[in-house]
Amino acid sequence: MLTLLNLLKDGRFHSGQDLGIALGISRSAVWKQLQHLEAELGLCIHKVRGRGYQLAAPLTLLDPLKISEMAPGWPVTVLDSVDSTNAEALRAIGRGAPAPCLVLAERQVSGRGRRGRKWVSPFAENIYYSLVLRIDGGMRQLEGLSLVVGLAVMRTLRSAGVPEAGLKWPNDVLVGNKKIAGILLELVGDPADVCHVVLGIGINVNMRAADEVDQQWTSVRLESGESCDRNILIAELSQQLAGYIKRHQAGGFSVLQTEWEQNHLWQGRPVSLIAGVNQIDGVVLGIDGQGALRLRVDGVEKIFSGGELSLRLRDDS
Ligand code: ATP
Repeated sequence: MLTLLNLLKDGRFHSGQDLGIALGISRSAVWKQLQHLEAELGLCIHKVRGRGYQLAAPLTLLDPLKISEMAPGWPVTVLDSVDSTNAEALRAIGRGAPAPCLVLAERQVSGRGRRGRKWVSPFAENIYYSLVLRIDGGMRQLEGLSLVVGLAVMRTLRSAGVPEAGLKWPNDVLVGNKKIAGILLELVGDPADVCHVVLGIGINVNMRAADEVDQQWTSVRLESGESCDRNILIAELSQQLAGYIKRHQAGGFSVLQTEWEQNHLWQGRPVSLIAGVNQIDGVVLGIDGQGALRLRVDGVEKIFSGGELSLRLRDDS
């Protein structure tokens, strides 16, 4: 099916006969595959009598060779479809794959956010990226790591024509109040000894419609007005991540604390911190040297950290 898509991706008309010859199948088999492409991958294909078939818009698919050349020496796996790139990365760790290594996919059928929430992941539109790291330097190498990933994603987006991309504690990347990327770190092993961490990143790149996303969102294309080559963006993301991870490993999170705070969109804002059924109201003071949130609550500075916390702007802010 993807061989057919490769023939159609230029966005030009191709006759059923030419497609059949190129694929070594009958015209009716071509027709069936086209229907499958539409139903399975949600693609829109124009069918015009006498001219043939044309994708509604040209597609640039992920290019494993280009991505491997530009990744900083990491083995790269590119999948057409996967449950979730994080799940595949965790399976790779289980199989003893060497780290670092990178898993990418054209789409996720069970893309996930924090606490089992869904990450909407249509085919060939966005980036679904999971980098496996081996951690053998103890807890210090994990402190603030998801915030470090946020910085790398933010810089990548700014370089792609989204200058207003900013951070929301702990690991959201927003443009204004709209979500443009999601980050999910998953850990296996003993964090005090040797463990592996999967840095899962979803970036909305060329997506222009997604009814299933139940909060405000945006994409690189919606912000910059131009379609974006995901291969180039992936290369930039890998470079940014490699640079930030190196600085974090060498100096700990505290060397990035000021840079992170300078890019925190909710610095000084009244917020509610949600922890399960509990809610704490306060004003954002910033973060500490480990990446924990500093809130002023009833006139007193308090520190919060942990994976189950969510921030919301207060209605009166
Ligand atoms: P938190 O503030 O706790 O991080 P969150 O609602 O942003 O909360 P995440 O786990 O980061 O939670 O992301 C999952 C949520 O993101 C989903 O519940 C949905 O509202 C939203 N979402 C899902 N897919 C996308 C997407 N492609 N782009 C933007 N937002 C999405």
